[in-house]
Amino acid sequence: MPEPDSAKPSHFIRNIVAEDIKASTYGGKVHTRFPPEPNGYLHIGHAKSICLNFGIAEEFRGLCNLRFDDTNPTKEEVEYVESIKEDVKWLGYDWDNRQYYASDYFERMYEYAIELIKQGKAYVCDLSPQEIKEYRGTLTGPGRDSPYRNRPVEENLDLLRRMRAGEFEDGSRTLRAKIDMASGNLNMRDPVIYRILKSSHHRTGNTWCIYPMYDFAHCLSDSIEGITHSICTLEFEDHRPLYDWFLDELGIYHPKQIEFARLNLSFTILSKRKLIELVGHGYVTGWDDPRMPTISGLRRRGYTCESIRNFCDRIGVAKRDSMVDIALLEYYIREDLNKRAPRVMAVLRPLRVIIDNYPENLEEELDAINNPEDPEMGTRKVPFSRVLYIERDDFREDPPKQFFRLAPGREVRLRYAYFIKCVDVVKDEQTGEVIELHCTYDPNTRGGDSPDGRRVKATLHWVSAAQAVEAEVRLYDHLFTKQDPADVGEGRDFKSSVNPNSLVTIKSCRVEPVLSGAAIGSRYQFERQGYFSVDPDSRAGKLVFNRTVSLRDTWAKIEKAQGK
Ligand code: ATP
Ligand code: MG
Repeated sequence: MPEPDSAKPSHFIRNIVAEDIKASTYGGKVHTRFPPEPNGYLHIGHAKSICLNFGIAEEFRGLCNLRFDDTNPTKEEVEYVESIKEDVKWLGYDWDNRQYYASDYFERMYEYAIELIKQGKAYVCDLSPQEIKEYRGTLTGPGRDSPYRNRPVEENLDLLRRMRAGEFEDGSRTLRAKIDMASGNLNMRDPVIYRILKSSHHRTGNTWCIYPMYDFAHCLSDSIEGITHSICTLEFEDHRPLYDWFLDELGIYHPKQIEFARLNLSFTILSKRKLIELVGHGYVTGWDDPRMPTISGLRRRGYTCESIRNFCDRIGVAKRDSMVDIALLEYYIREDLNKRAPRVMAVLRPLRVIIDNYPENLEEELDAINNPEDPEMGTRKVPFSRVLYIERDDFREDPPKQFFRLAPGREVRLRYAYFIKCVDVVKDEQTGEVIELHCTYDPNTRGGDSPDGRRVKATLHWVSAAQAVEAEVRLYDHLFTKQDPADVGEGRDFKSSVNPNSLVTIKSCRVEPVLSGAAIGSRYQFERQGYFSVDPDSRAGKLVFNRTVSLRDTWAKIEKAQGK
């Protein structure tokens, strides 16, 4: 009997599954499914559901199906189907040959609908959508029976057949379950199970002009596939009685629906409908814009699938809604890349430095460590010469207290190289901007240590001007300025909290020559700055890097604390 994996964090769904296996509820079997609607790209919230469904199946040696819930042809597209498959695979999960579509079962669903009519449990209703709403009642008051509720079975069968044959206009008739218009649960007040929609479907084409509603299609698909545990988000809790009703009335195989709290992430929108708006209105460059919380956006940004899976494991599964701090997601990508990303030096905002006492035509190769966390990643050579670039931010002409980096008359260490001391500052005559520094170096400090034991307080990254490679770097910040982007006050919508500074592009960065020809998608730590990955926009001779996540910058923190 498969036992729960003791290394995995326990949660109530695992416990239910483990109990069911023990009690042999479904013959000791576990069979889950991930059921996306192909009406948008998957986001990090879906990753939680994917990890849960595929994870439970994996752990208990069961199976997990990928099922496209494609019951609304007006919003669904093949592009979305393809992207969903790519994303689930990229997360490391495999559905083998179990790729299904709700539309695979349209014929069987239709037969089940006929069965309900024959049992007197469903009827064709001629009320308009507006009237159905009015008859539905409120949370506090009961609804009213439709005047068509007691149509004879034969008439219902005939009308449903003609609905299917395309004899009636969109919205003119529906098939409804006959349950209870006075139920305390609005979902049980004779819900619509079929509607007329003369719209071509991405898989069934024009075969159908009536389509089943979600609640009807979902439980039937689960039942047909022999799903044991139908795991979904909390908003479906109130739909569970309906899920159970359909299966019980039809007397067919009955999976167990279990609800959990969806992922909410600070500074992030997790709703396909809203994400579509961001794409459609040009707030981002596409579904895979590195600022998007989509799996494809995170991937392009440089996230690894391991970091996302670790994050999903860590946030756990609960029954109550909560908001997860986006800093936790960032923590997991830092943790992962810290171990696996090679470190290199890159200067984002270059300031020219001339080492006055370094020979004109000399070029040295210095040894640099690729990753101190992993000696097996070895070392590389970094060229050093008389003209270098350092980071503009690493120099202050008039250094504030606590600023220990380069300043006139001050000595610092260049990583893997030498101690240098600033002896002169050249400025633009017009603007007063610092354009060049003159320094001297101490040849005895090669490798970064002084034989006389004198100390410096800062170590800077740098590149040698002649050999450096030019690159574009894209720095990202949260896409929204508000922790809860929907919290915008009366009359405004979530788009008003889009962060206008979520992307800063720097064109003329200089990176170590070892990066020339870096493969798209490869990831690096730029020393002292953060983790970066090569964007697909890169071309030969024109590297583009995305900042995946910054390192925590202590100086930026000090300045922030001082309110600067
Ligand atoms: P969205 O609100 O983004 O449109 P959805 O629920 O309509 O999401 P589906 O394609 O129906 O999108 O989702 C597929 C599965 O993923 C469902 O089982 C759904 O419950 C789950 N899911 C969607 N969003 C989240 C989330 N934020 N956290 C956890 N699971 C989610
Ligand atoms: Mg949904």
